[in-house]
Amino acid sequence: MRAYDLLLKKRNGEALTEEELNYLILGYTAGKIPDYQIASWLMAVYFQGMTTEETAALTKVMLNSGAKVDLSCLPGVKVDKHSTGGVGDTTTLVLLPLVASLGVPVAKMSGRGLGHTGGTIDKLESIPGFKTGLDRQAFLQQVKTIGAAVAGQNQALVPADGLLYKLRDVTATVESIPLIASSIMSKKLASGADSIVLDVKVGSGAFMKNLEEARRLARTMVDLGEAMQRKTIAVLTQMNQPLGLTIGNALEVREAIAVLQNEGPDDLRELCLVLGSVMLYLGKKADCLESARELLEKSLATGLACQKLADLLEAQGGSREVINDPDLLPKAEFQVMVPAEKDGFVGELNAYEIGRAAMLLGAGREKKDDLIDPAAGIVLQKKSGEPVKKGEALAVLHTNDRSSLAAAEEIVKANYVLSAEKPEALPLIYEMVGHI
Ligand code: URA
Ligand code: CA
Repeated sequence: MRAYDLLLKKRNGEALTEEELNYLILGYTAGKIPDYQIASWLMAVYFQGMTTEETAALTKVMLNSGAKVDLSCLPGVKVDKHSTGGVGDTTTLVLLPLVASLGVPVAKMSGRGLGHTGGTIDKLESIPGFKTGLDRQAFLQQVKTIGAAVAGQNQALVPADGLLYKLRDVTATVESIPLIASSIMSKKLASGADSIVLDVKVGSGAFMKNLEEARRLARTMVDLGEAMQRKTIAVLTQMNQPLGLTIGNALEVREAIAVLQNEGPDDLRELCLVLGSVMLYLGKKADCLESARELLEKSLATGLACQKLADLLEAQGGSREVINDPDLLPKAEFQVMVPAEKDGFVGELNAYEIGRAAMLLGAGREKKDDLIDPAAGIVLQKKSGEPVKKGEALAVLHTNDRSSLAAAEEIVKANYVLSAEKPEALPLIYEMVGHI
């Protein structure tokens, strides 16, 4: 086999076989096929797409490029949850203790933030003392004892994805449905869960800008999961504006704690209830979504979920005191209000741009090795559809780097589009894909 012939075949619109993909992907992972040939293959895939069988073959090849986690020693149905990436999306921090409090074991491996989106590991590391570098044994033991654990993505899982993703990032080939689906699903399949809930984001802050594309991505991932005997359900959710009111690591931890205390912003709470219901249903702790939701609401109201968060913090070295005293979390030296320049209703609030402003303030990374400031970020005072008067606060910028304030303020101002008419509200949840 020659890489050249496979590139030619793909360029001409034919599907590669599993054997051929194996040759390309494992050759690349082993350093035998150079970046420029794989870059050419990626661009051919971007334009030619992949058949269902070809996408499944690629996913299998990627999955087999590294180690797999075996969770069979843990009792119960293990359910994993994955978001395709949003802005201000703190749902994992809420869902982990929430569903664990109702008996669904969660052995969660999470990533760090890159670009305009955040990552669960960075958020948790803003909690003083919290450790995410658990070894395999400690990780499994913790799920056995308290029902939940969270660790950084194991480098041994799907090494092909790490390499391919880096190359896609610099060759304008990220936004391809078969490439995104195989990237996400190979990692989910390697992480060992029995069932998978996918939060597929749609809108300006997401990879998928419209419902049609998001539906295709969701369908592709659900089919990949089912083909590998994992019950998989995708929920299509809106990501035009950021979720909740906060963007930034410690700020999002505060917001997650508030939801677990039965408070917090409505949209974040609602999304957690919807995703949590599917997790409880797949985890066989409820026989329909309605009864699952009742259980979740009760756990929030009685403090059961919050107690589970305290257990989780304690187990991983974090201070449980932050629950009652969130001021123990890092706080930014500079907190600067951005005022409205006229009266009106908040229209669009572009999640991608607000995420980018938060990154400039120090909340995220532009490059993989950049340092982040756990205290940095943005607290929105107004969201789409809300009325605002001239001079009232639209948002508050948080940072320890004074020099970043002007650029961030300019982005935030430009993206609070104020209109005379109240804009129509977009739904938060569009639809589900998969068998309920
Ligand atoms: N998230 C992933 O893990 N991979 C992609 O390709 C896109 C989002
Ligand atoms: Ca938020």
